[in-house]
Amino acid sequence: MMTETYSPGQPIWCAGCGHFGVQGALSYALKALNIPSHKTIILAGIGCSGTIQNNLGTYGYHAMHGRVLPTAIGTALANPDLTVVAAGGDGDGYAIGAGHFVHTLKRNPSLVYIVMNNGIYGLTKGQDSPTKQGPEWAPEEEALDAIALGLSIQSSTFLARGFTGAPEQLDQLIIKALEHAHSGRGFAFIEVMSPCVTYNDTYPNWDAMVYDVANIAGYDAGDRAAAFAACLRLKEKNHIPTGIIYQGEHPTFESALLKNSTRPLARVDADTSGYRRQMDDILSACRV
Ligand code: SF4
Repeated sequence: MMTETYSPGQPIWCAGCGHFGVQGALSYALKALNIPSHKTIILAGIGCSGTIQNNLGTYGYHAMHGRVLPTAIGTALANPDLTVVAAGGDGDGYAIGAGHFVHTLKRNPSLVYIVMNNGIYGLTKGQDSPTKQGPEWAPEEEALDAIALGLSIQSSTFLARGFTGAPEQLDQLIIKALEHAHSGRGFAFIEVMSPCVTYNDTYPNWDAMVYDVANIAGYDAGDRAAAFAACLRLKEKNHIPTGIIYQGEHPTFESALLKNSTRPLARVDADTSGYRRQMDDILSACRV
């Protein structure tokens, strides 16, 4: 008997959009780690980036605006056998979803979160997002630095930043993030500088600004305070720090919630015949 399987769609992004680079790196990393499609789920938020789950042959879920992280946490708790990847844009993740981002950093669930940061809302034609920066932007608001925010939360365990203009580095960062979450070490957050070539083409600017922290002599990604100081120094020189900024250890959310006595939903016997019999008995008792 023939078995029908899902055929991934083609991306609907503008030619040259940075998100192609994110998709390519994620696909490469999943293959490099031999993580099978049927054991992977990609959940996406709302925005141009929020269609990435349609393009890969994994399970997929399109979450509500800003709510991709609670949905991903629920998924990971319900089925610990899945590799869970949440993805979205900077508008989705750092504006309406900012509260969930902070609380996910606090909880440290074992999943990957990729934010495709282009500094704007691309899907709605280029309004400023929380990370918009540049001379044409209103100076009364500081651009949000999600890595600095992550460093300030003591339970964060993996913070990295990549750039779609540096594809080899991005491949390796996503591999490391998947390994971190897959091995149950907790929340692996990667911000990818992923330019919107249609409404905010930052490729030339960001190409000149990115700076891999691995090039800093003696950089220790396990030293939170030193990582924070190094990022601030780079920022003062108008650089964007990239690479694995911080990686450490902290108890995970699932280790606190999924005790031996608590079976994840995916492992609970889904046979409902007992309940059905009970319901039939109740209905029979009500009949006159
Ligand atoms: Fe990419 Fe911008 Fe086009 Fe959206 S509008 S698909 S972010 S280039």
